[in-house]
Amino acid sequence: MNKAVNKGKLIIFSAPSGAGKTTLVKYLMSAMDNLVFSISACSRKRRAGEKDGRDYYFISVKEFKEKIKNDEFVEWEEVYSDYFYGTLRSEVQRIRNSGRHVVFDVDVKGGLNIKKIFGDDALAVFVKPPSVKALKQRLKQRATDDDREIATRLAKAKNELTFADQFDVIIINDDLKKAKKQTLEAVQNFLNR
Ligand code: ADP
Ligand code: 5GP
Repeated sequence: MNKAVNKGKLIIFSAPSGAGKTTLVKYLMSAMDNLVFSISACSRKRRAGEKDGRDYYFISVKEFKEKIKNDEFVEWEEVYSDYFYGTLRSEVQRIRNSGRHVVFDVDVKGGLNIKKIFGDDALAVFVKPPSVKALKQRLKQRATDDDREIATRLAKAKNELTFADQFDVIIINDDLKKAKKQTLEAVQNFLNR
């Protein structure tokens, strides 16, 4: 008889764009075994350096809408106009059934939705920038988005910051070294609970 596999837990990272959640998620994944990143589907264009099937499944708006119709998403959001992003049921099931833990990088609404669905099996982490000014500097320095995109992201950020208190943990990403340490501790505590 097969040994029952303990289902993996869920670790959700949300933040305004530019706060540093990709940086922290990448660090966490390199520091711990047994974590698997949930690759979302999205309809925005691929950025330089991004790889289909590694960073996202890049699909068209039409394909995205088909998947919504077929109920393939745990949650999805039109994060920016015509930029759809969604968590695939197939990703979450595959990873959890293997006993490994799922790591999500999703927007604030999506993060709170996943937390609501999975409750105590999920840890919702909010990554907070030290200030909106710092956020702007980081987006400029990252140089992946043009000025218009940056303005859209900053406008959304102000609203997203108001949801921080609804998360299980807030990590202030000012000093990156400290933020990495706090992230690792929060996740280890959660998984040992
Ligand atoms: P997000 O995934 O939240 O959009 P990123 O991880 O891409 O954010 O970080 C945005 C930019 O800020 C990147 O260029 C990254 O190297 C930089 N960055 C991340 N954390 C810090 C920090 N604590 N101090 C300064 N720059 C940072
Ligand atoms: P970016 O375009 O910078 O990669 O991502 C924009 C925003 O979409 C980020 O806040 C990111 O976390 C979010 N995002 C990525 N995947 C998903 C997803 O599957 N669902 C939701 N709701 N947001 C997502």
